[in-house]
Amino acid sequence: MQLLASYLAGTWSVGSGTRTPLVNPATEEVLAEVHGGGHDLAAAFQYARTAGAKELGALTFAQRGALLGSLAKAIHGAREELIAMAVANGGNTRGDAKFDIDGGAVTLSHYAELGTKLGSAPLLGDGEPIQVGRTARMGGQHVWARRRGVAVHINAFNFPAWGLCEKLACALLAGMPVISKPATATALVAHRLAQLFEPLLPAGALQVLVGPAGTLLDNLQSGDVVAFTGGSGTATMLRNKLPEPVRLNIEADSLNAAILAPDVELSSEAGALFLADIVRDMTQKTGQKCTAIRRVLVPEARFAEVCDAMKERLASLAVGDPSREDVRMGPVATAQQHADVKAGIARLAAATDSVHGGTGEVSPIGVPAGKGFFIGPVVRSTKDPLRCAPLNDHEVFGPVSTVGSYDGSAELAAAFVARGDGCLVSSAYSDDRDWVATFVGAAAPWAGRLYLGSSKMASQSPGPGTVLPSLLHGGPGRAGGGEELGGERGLHFYMQRCALEGDASVLKTLIG
Ligand code: NAP
Repeated sequence: MQLLASYLAGTWSVGSGTRTPLVNPATEEVLAEVHGGGHDLAAAFQYARTAGAKELGALTFAQRGALLGSLAKAIHGAREELIAMAVANGGNTRGDAKFDIDGGAVTLSHYAELGTKLGSAPLLGDGEPIQVGRTARMGGQHVWARRRGVAVHINAFNFPAWGLCEKLACALLAGMPVISKPATATALVAHRLAQLFEPLLPAGALQVLVGPAGTLLDNLQSGDVVAFTGGSGTATMLRNKLPEPVRLNIEADSLNAAILAPDVELSSEAGALFLADIVRDMTQKTGQKCTAIRRVLVPEARFAEVCDAMKERLASLAVGDPSREDVRMGPVATAQQHADVKAGIARLAAATDSVHGGTGEVSPIGVPAGKGFFIGPVVRSTKDPLRCAPLNDHEVFGPVSTVGSYDGSAELAAAFVARGDGCLVSSAYSDDRDWVATFVGAAAPWAGRLYLGSSKMASQSPGPGTVLPSLLHGGPGRAGGGEELGGERGLHFYMQRCALEGDASVLKTLIG
């Protein structure tokens, strides 16, 4: 049995204590084990604060960008091996696995290019120079400076590759050493990435703790940052536990909405995009995407048509062992996830009607009888979407969506987005620019990103569920109030903004 090791303080160590198994969620076969603790985490922090900070601090943005480029290449070189691991340990189809792994590589490459662009500037300029004196000689300039401290990354189970890479890219480019903790249940991919990345990076730049957090948080001090992705319960614990001077970024639950405007026919390009986006988000990664569409709103006149179209598209979906080529959707990742999704469906079922899939019972293809954490795609419906509490108050993190109807007004559409109490992304499909303007004005305060589907962009759209390194990822309220990525903005969490005032010609030289 493979025993996974952590890479801490310059060495690989398996730790000690009770063992937790990592299983194949389709067959329940144990793939590897990880010890519950036994690591000297104080030594890991010390190593990051000394070797890691020194090594990264000596490099320019361009040199740190080049390191990120080498990590992206390492992923490309091991792509098939990583995909096989994600299929076995994550319940991913090959397409799901590629989405995670290629997403990680693309994000690293994006930040590698940004590093080249930022070159050797010692500080990042923030906005234009400002005249603060009587003449232009006395100036002001906001800058971003490298923080001195350790970046702790805690990731969710659903994106072991992308989650690790997107946080790592921003922190390393900003010059902060990282201790990364993947979710235990799906850590096989993250563990392999750590093995691939470690020889390519300077000492102390990246350490990876595989297994439970243990005393990880007890070693934090002023100047350190924690970037967390996961459930809202864990996020609340972190908010209460972390010492005040430690900066915390949270990416948590999200009740993302997709809204069809009244001007869009389902047979149009925008209508086809709407349907394709909903069905993809329900089934890709078995609905275990933080950006997946959970709530769908359609004009009353299109309600039956949309429900029928979703039913038709999902009816032929092959659910089963994701290592089979004919399977389009695998199991959820863990037994706990299975129980949570089932409980979420039961809560929804008490307040909604079934459109497709009942409460998720399914006979998976190619799986030993009674094995695996499978749930079939479930579509529910409600005639009162704004007042349906189980729909708007609880995220079901699986292949589940609920369709509601409305009067078609942009104000009500925005109120539906707001009802989720803050989301990572919501989408609206319309070719009516006035409708879109009203919707965006009212919905934007409730969403980290708004995806505006239309016939003009339909052929180029990656869908709302794809997180792009050039755009912000995060959201207000329930989604945690955090921000990641967004090009250069992604570096700011790992840097300190400082206002400089003095001789304008000196300020200019400081930002290069
Ligand atoms: P989770 O149970 O909150 O776990 C997330 C991470 O926190 C894991 O690495 C977990 O480690 C760690 N953790 C748990 N207890 C901890 C503690 N006491 N101290 C330090 N770390 C601790 O969430 P999950 O089940 O992995 O993920 C599902 C949730 O994540 C969903 O609700 C989803 O909405 C959310 N999510 C959000 C985003 C986003 O970008 N906003 C993306 C993906 C997922 P162990 O695995 O070792 O327990």
